[in-house]
This record gives sequence, structure tokens and C-alpha cells, in this order.
Amino acid sequence: MKADPRAASVIRRLDEAGYASYLVGGCVRDALLGKAPKDWDVATAARPEQVLEVFSGCRVIETGLVHGTVTVLCEGLPVEVTTFRVDGDYEGNRRPKSVAFVSGIEEDLARRDFTINALAYHPAKGLIDLFGGAGDIEARRLRSVGDPDERFREDGLRILRALRFASVLSFDIDEALGASIRRNRGLLGNISAERILSELTKLLTGGGVRRVLAAYPDVLAVCIPELAPMVGFDQRNPYHMYDVWMHTAYAVEAAPEDGTIRLAMLLHDIGKPSSFFVDEGGIGHFYGHEEVGAGIADRRLRALKCDNGTREAVCALIRWHDVKLTERNLIKWLNRLGEARLRQLLEVQAADAKSHTPDNARAKLLGLEARKAQLEEIIEKEKCFSLGALAVNGTDLIAIGIPEGSEVGRVLNDLLDAVMDEQVPNEKQALLRRVWYHVSDGHDRGE
Ligand code: ATP
Ligand code: MG
Repeated sequence: MKADPRAASVIRRLDEAGYASYLVGGCVRDALLGKAPKDWDVATAARPEQVLEVFSGCRVIETGLVHGTVTVLCEGLPVEVTTFRVDGDYEGNRRPKSVAFVSGIEEDLARRDFTINALAYHPAKGLIDLFGGAGDIEARRLRSVGDPDERFREDGLRILRALRFASVLSFDIDEALGASIRRNRGLLGNISAERILSELTKLLTGGGVRRVLAAYPDVLAVCIPELAPMVGFDQRNPYHMYDVWMHTAYAVEAAPEDGTIRLAMLLHDIGKPSSFFVDEGGIGHFYGHEEVGAGIADRRLRALKCDNGTREAVCALIRWHDVKLTERNLIKWLNRLGEARLRQLLEVQAADAKSHTPDNARAKLLGLEARKAQLEEIIEKEKCFSLGALAVNGTDLIAIGIPEGSEVGRVLNDLLDAVMDEQVPNEKQALLRRVWYHVSDGHDRGE
């Protein structure tokens, strides 16, 4: 396995000071998978104050001294150095408040959640694999360290972490682990909203998300109960070949690996079960499900303590996921939503289309491609789609006699509409002429 030389040098310095140290957890797993680790974690026999002493000449951040963690900045690379530890007592299936330092790496590895995360590596001594994690990586299989029921009772979040790793790594969940996940799913009810949403978002951005969503809807429904009625819900509609939940699973997978967009895909049809209606011909419809869904998502994301920016983006994408974007109206939607949100909406609509019946999808996707090209052209040619870019402002209007107050805003918006409709160029003289013409026209008619 290849370790970053800077992380290896942190191990070397601790070793030289007499403290056994190893790379541990995610970085070892990712390196064995041939992926670039996101962050480098070191476990060491040194106590936090001893770590501070060893690195007294370097930049260090006292990240979490009570939990034994110090971050050493090594030539720009942050390396988290944590004293060998086991968790204190678990209360109510949550992360423990206290930790206890221990002397060996073995105990430290045993407290970790899955075998693939319970690996340690030393540049000279090699891999320490007490639970068969390397074999599981080879077999692309997720197994718990020890009895899964027990491990979930210690910390219920591990249930969602299991689904997260299965999704992100596209690993299979071992049978005993899968059964335990289902059996213990209720424990997620004890976990804080912030931890749930953070794991859920990571789960959604994984490449193997569809299989996880398809197999464990009952687990996700503990976190978002409104998902439950989507499972198996027959749409009775020729445009759909899947039930609402399977359509959702495909749509999430078809979207770019971005947390906001994938959350929007997960929830985009959450309003369907309560908006269902069958016409005389026996065809199912879901009038208004977008608005209903945006409302459900708003309440649920607030309960999950989602940040306002993400919540607003997700709800807007749900509300507008079915609007018809045309060559004529695209610029109006650009004005209404802004460039970033409109780009997201195009992604959402494409992902949605990809999980409809293929014939229906092809035509829709071609249309969306054309809208995307049109959007690029609008941006490139700096066409005007907002009041800020209009070649006149309020002061210009007042100068030619428009009365101060709400009238100014109304006229500016009329001008913007006319510019977006290409009835008038975005040029000061042309715009003022148009205002003048309309005002005098109104006066002539005695309005
Ligand atoms: P990522 O790539 O998301 O950082 P990671 O495996 O590094 O993945 P972290 O949440 O950063 O995940 O945790 C680091 C390590 O700490 C894990 O690999 C695992 O060994 C251990 N760990 C983290 N959370 C738990 C938990 N809830 N229960 C048991 N062990 C855990
Ligand atoms: Mg990590």
C-alpha cells in the first residue's frame, strides 16, 4: 500500500520518540482500494500532550484533546493523530461522551465499526488486519467487527454508515449484517438529526446508491417516514415502468453525484402518494404533487436540521421538477431561478427523464440538451435576464418623469420582460424611448 510521504513522516517521528503509531481507518481502506484517501488518520500510543511535545516545532491544531485528537499540519497536509482508545459507555445507542485511552492498537481496532475500517498500516511493519478487512475489500463485502446487533446497540448510526459504505464503495452487505440492519433499524430513532443527515447525504452521493435504496427503504423510512408509502406504489401511468420508489431509486442514481441534487431526486416524488387520482380511463395522475412534495420536504429537512441554503434549493427543485422548459420561456426561468438553480433544475429533469420509459425519456432528454445549449448561449452572449443587467435603472426613469415609488419598479419589470422577449434591445436609448412612447401613449388616451 502507498502512504503519503508526509503522513509516513508523522509516523516516523512518533516512532523515533518511542510511541508505536499506525495509519488507520478510512485512509488504509481507500489506499487498498486504489483510491486517493480524503484524509489521513494516525493512531498512536502517545497521549495528546505527548503528541503536542513531539510536534512542538510544527503547526498543530488541538482538534479534540479530550477525545485524544491532535491535527498535525505536515507541509500543508493535515494529519489527525489520535491516541489509541476505546469508547466509554454507550447511552441510548449514541456515540459515548467519554473515551478511555488504551495501550495497544488491537483494542483500538476492535472498537471500529466494519472490518474494512478496522485496518492499520505501518510503513515498515506492514498491514495489521485482525478481522479480515483486507479479504473483505478484495471480495467487496461489508461485515461488522464482531456481532452486528451488539455494535448497533452501542451506536445506532452505524446502521446508516453501513448503507453509506455499501453505496459509496458499491460493496455487498454481508447477509448477517443485512438482517441485523433491518432488525435494528428502529435504533436510528435515537440518533441526532445532524448525524443522520450527514450520513444520508454521503449515502445518496454513492455510485451504488440505487441498489441500497432498492434493498433498504424500510431503514431510510425511519429517518424520513414519508418515504414509506412510495414503496410499491403503482403509478398506473404509461410513462412509468416502475413503482414510485423504484423510479426514485433510478432517478437518484441517474443524477450527478452532488448532495443537493441527489436529495432533491430522493424527495422529488414524495408528494405522489397523497396526490394520486385515477381518471375514468383508469390512468393514474398526480396533479399538484410537486407543491405537496416541496411542502413535505421542507418540513422533513427542517426536522433533520438541514442548513437553510440546501433546504431551499432542494424544495425549489422539487417544486419545479415538472415545469416545461421551452425555447421561449427558458430566459424567464433563468430570471426567476438564477443561473445556478436553473442548471440544477436541468440536471434534475434529465435524471427524472432517464428513469421513465425509454421512448418518453429520449424525446425529453433531447429537449433538455437543447435547453442546456441555449442556456450556455445566453450566458456567453451576456444576454440580459435580470434587473441588474438592464441598461436603465430607477434613476433614469425618474429623470424622464416616472413618479418615484412602486411605478418605477413596475416599469423596470415591464422593460425586462420586453428585453427577454426580444421585443426591444437592451440599450438605454431604446428602452427610454419605449417608456416615453408608452407613457405618452397612455396620456394621449387620457389614462
Ligand atoms: P470517510 O472517507 O468518510 O472519511 P472514514 O472511514 O474515514 O470515511 P470517518 O467517519 O472519518 O470514516 O471515521 C474514521 C474511522 O473511525 C472509520 O474508518 C472507523 O474506523 C472509525 N469510526 C468512525 N465512526 C465510527 C462509529 N460510529 N463506530 C465505530 N467506528 C467508527
Ligand atoms: Mg475519514
